[in-house]
Amino acid sequence: MFIKTEDLTKVYKTGTAEVRALDRVSLTFEKGKIYAVLGPSGSGKSTLFNLIGGIDRPDGGKIWVDGEEISSYSPEKLTRYRREKVGFVFQFYNLINTLTVYENVQAAADLSASPADIKTVLELVGMLEHKDKYPLELSGGEAQRVAIARAVVKKPPLILCDEPTGALDYQNAKKVLELLERVNKETGATVMIITHNQAIARMCHGVVTLRSGQVTGFSENPAPIAAR
Ligand code: ADP
Ligand code: ADP
Repeated sequence: MFIKTEDLTKVYKTGTAEVRALDRVSLTFEKGKIYAVLGPSGSGKSTLFNLIGGIDRPDGGKIWVDGEEISSYSPEKLTRYRREKVGFVFQFYNLINTLTVYENVQAAADLSASPADIKTVLELVGMLEHKDKYPLELSGGEAQRVAIARAVVKKPPLILCDEPTGALDYQNAKKVLELLERVNKETGATVMIITHNQAIARMCHGVVTLRSGQVTGFSENPAPIAAR
């Protein structure tokens, strides 16, 4: 068992109004698998990622990652956890437009990473031949591959992807998922993907469905890759 949440609760207060973004969410995610998180807008998907990724803290309940209760960490320890253990991939790429593809990945790597390490990651995502291009010269699919390279260059055991395929057409979305599968196989990382795309969800090992901050479904897919 790699990630477990127990009665995870997050409440946002705006003036007198209160939103239960997550309401006693209890989930288990196994190590080294790929999970999709589905649910309508406002159902709590991003909040769940922010808590598991150590960007934000819960108002109730607990989170364990690799046997450690991160919900009891000090702010300093949580920052270290986020930097060392979690890779984030966002819908809008978060690339630095004034840096080349190579420099974007280098900027996200450890200081100890060698040029060979960076080239290995660029090769993995199929962007080595474009290493000297700038983000604005890339297609959407290519930019997302660079964003994935940035997230995986430190070999984090956990990769959180918020709508990584939301801005892409189906063929490119499928390529991004195949790439995440390759990363998952090569590094053993657990991958969680927020998506609206049912076809993408069917390619994952497990699917969590949220609605109004509660879990309304959790299913495992016995043959996610063969089913493709
Ligand atoms: P999703 O990612 O599924 O769209 P979110 O986790 O972003 O859902 O949001 C869940 C609920 O919490 C929504 O009702 C949203 O409006 C509310 N919410 C999220 N972030 C904040 C915030 N910083 N302040 C107030 N309300 C928030
Ligand atoms: P994809 O099938 O990945 O979406 P595109 O057909 O959008 O690819 O792009 C094909 C090629 O054209 C890519 O190698 C990309 O680098 C280049 N390209 C796309 N958009 C631009 C742009 N605005 N400026 C320069 N080159 C671009």
